[in-house]
Amino acid sequence: MTKYIFVTGGVTSSLGKGIVSASLAKLLQARGFKVTIQKFDPYINVDPGTLNPYEHGECFVTEDGAETDLDLGHYERFLNTFTTQANNVTTGRIYQSVIYKEREGAYLGKTVQVIPHITDEIKRRMQLLAESDYDIIITEIGGTIGDIESLPFIEAVRQLQWELPEGDCLVIHLTLVPYLKAAKELKTKPTQHSVKMMSENGVHPDIIVCRTEQPLTRELKNKIALFCNVKLDSVIEAADANSIYEVPLLMQQEQLDIIVLKKLNITWYPEPDLTIWKGFLAKLANPKSTVTIGLIGKYIELQDAYKSILEAFIHAGAMNECKVEVLDVHSEFITIENINDKLQGLDGMLVAPGFGHRGIDGKILAVQYAREKGLPFFGICLGMQMSVIEFARNVLHLKGAHSTEMDDQAVDPIIDLMEEQKSITQKGGTMRLGSYPCKIEVGTLAHTIYGAELISERHRHRWELNNKYLDAMQAAGLKASGINPETNLVEIVEIPSHPFFIGVQYHPELKSTVEKPHPIFVHFVKAALDFKKTQENGEHTLAAEMI
Ligand code: GLN
Repeated sequence: MTKYIFVTGGVTSSLGKGIVSASLAKLLQARGFKVTIQKFDPYINVDPGTLNPYEHGECFVTEDGAETDLDLGHYERFLNTFTTQANNVTTGRIYQSVIYKEREGAYLGKTVQVIPHITDEIKRRMQLLAESDYDIIITEIGGTIGDIESLPFIEAVRQLQWELPEGDCLVIHLTLVPYLKAAKELKTKPTQHSVKMMSENGVHPDIIVCRTEQPLTRELKNKIALFCNVKLDSVIEAADANSIYEVPLLMQQEQLDIIVLKKLNITWYPEPDLTIWKGFLAKLANPKSTVTIGLIGKYIELQDAYKSILEAFIHAGAMNECKVEVLDVHSEFITIENINDKLQGLDGMLVAPGFGHRGIDGKILAVQYAREKGLPFFGICLGMQMSVIEFARNVLHLKGAHSTEMDDQAVDPIIDLMEEQKSITQKGGTMRLGSYPCKIEVGTLAHTIYGAELISERHRHRWELNNKYLDAMQAAGLKASGINPETNLVEIVEIPSHPFFIGVQYHPELKSTVEKPHPIFVHFVKAALDFKKTQENGEHTLAAEMI
């Protein structure tokens, strides 16, 4: 029997529903339950694949090739399990299915309405993952209570609460308890209003989780319990944390997992095993050294655009007992004149994925800088493609080398549109998406990193390295060390004569988790540490020579 937990948000957005959901899931998983988390987003896009990162941050890609909300990345990083297409549903997808069925004549002449047809489709999808034998399914409802768009989802929760056996379903409401500096007081009124609004829609929270900058006193918790009609032990404090990875332990201190289990009528459960998690947190809190990695990208103002990359650095840093400082460098503003100033002091460089022309000249200059100076280099997707263009232009002297994504008349189309992409006109969900195998050549850097000959990684791209240029590239020193065994698409390039230079067509950041940091990130951080040490030794030697 699967149990259901719904998580709604009140007062404002950005309270961290995804992190609270993932933290609760982690605690339940640590007690031996099979848990998954899904996100229902009220916007009308069929999936976030067509959304600009400025609108919605990174697009997270699952193993089965779904373009999803970035919260799914948190779910995977916390739980160390894969999510699927079914774990992210939008209003657009719900309507798409309902309208498709209507065109098929499946509603037999009925008037198709929000209730029951849209809500039925929401409920069907809310329960879909139960077929995979989960003990507990946590469903995060995107948006904030009061939004017109989220109403059908709240109504679906109301109906499910009514239909499911008692004790099989509960609702957690995450709200903000703001601190008014001038009054030196925490305020509960926004929470009261948000719960009231939710109750007007027929859904009453069983547990209220309060985001707060200041500790909640017992008196204040009492007040929320009384006015919001929940038990005192069901008012949970969610204080600001130094790292999102501390939140499971904060929630454990508040006994969120125990209260949830009690309310779900689960009476027997083992003690939680959080050994690996706590080991990770201990390393995270006590780094022995620091490295600075330059992140060369064009969405630098926006932390969420490179979410998985930043988290992968946190995992890899802890593994190396080292703090990774990420220095954001806007590729659009890198020029030959300022590049030394902008990039000096880096111990490693990551050139980010991306689409379109903006900022690519700066990316190419940055690759050249890393290649020539022996600075550890890691290029992801567009970052890898830029490293191939840089090599072609400056080592093979093909001055007209370019990607046809930016210049469809390129003299040397060193990066070209994949054959199967040429006939595609629809934008949504049509890239080369999800997991594909890659065969690695023994004896290469990639082989040392993975310690395996056959790997599988996730993709999101339309262009690829043009194999017509491969022999010339390899002869000049850029090795294709990983290749798709079925199509010969180049997945990994490296420069064996460089201390650490790797570019990958796929997105390794999507598979890095707390319990399984991604090996490329781990080796890259290690290479940055080594680079830093050689630089420091070099300075010492110089200083010694001067005496
Ligand atoms: N724009 C490039 C392509 O489609 C790279 C994509 C990416 O970086 N995710 O191939």
